[in-house]
Amino acid sequence: MKKISIEGIVLNETNYGETSKILNILTKEYGYISVISKGCRTLKNKNRGVSLLLSYATYTLNYKENGISNLIEGNTIEPLKNILTDFEKMNYATYLINLCKKILKDNNDKTLYSLLKNALLKINANIDPSIITNIMEIKVLDYLGVKPNFTNCLKCGTNDILTFDISIGGMVCKNCYQDTYIFQEKTLKLLKLFQEVDISKIDKITVSLPIKKEINDFIKEYYDTYTGIYLKNKDKIQDILKI
Ligand SMILES: [Zn+2]
Repeated sequence: MKKISIEGIVLNETNYGETSKILNILTKEYGYISVISKGCRTLKNKNRGVSLLLSYATYTLNYKENGISNLIEGNTIEPLKNILTDFEKMNYATYLINLCKKILKDNNDKTLYSLLKNALLKINANIDPSIITNIMEIKVLDYLGVKPNFTNCLKCGTNDILTFDISIGGMVCKNCYQDTYIFQEKTLKLLKLFQEVDISKIDKITVSLPIKKEINDFIKEYYDTYTGIYLKNKDKIQDILKI
């Protein structure tokens, strides 16, 4: 065991014994780790606040590389209060956490941390959570090994593109087009923007409902065809929110 201080977000909490918890923390430096927070369920425990789901804090631990580390203390960096107190935001945050957990099963890539952190901070800062979710869904395709090319025709390479043909997994131009759904130009532009944008730099983004719907249709079909991840919780959220 060695003593370390790391930045992280609690993605999972499980009660352990009478008063403790096992936390799964996605960290900036060490990827996804398990930590025992001893006594954190008692009222007076100093680590109570940093041992809750979605705590975003600096954690000092006795770190064990292939096992469960021990939490010594934590200091909150920013409380994600707006998420924790808002049903819609919480639903989207939970959905994003579950999506990231699925990716972490096969890929403990440390860059996923800043992606998720920035997405949660923006949801907490009242940026449209459905758009932040779409941006994450497009970005994590890279971790799943199926990053779409939104720039060039898959068949001839031109950047004068017409639509995205999901059945072949890429853009097509007018000449290479074969009977497939034609997405609106705005939808295709936004998908490309979502892939490239730095989430931490977003301070305002609005998308009309018909375009949102097309983006979501694209994402659902692309995930169904290429990822093996079924976005079932998303259907539920969208049902509730009538997107
Ligand atoms: Zn072409």
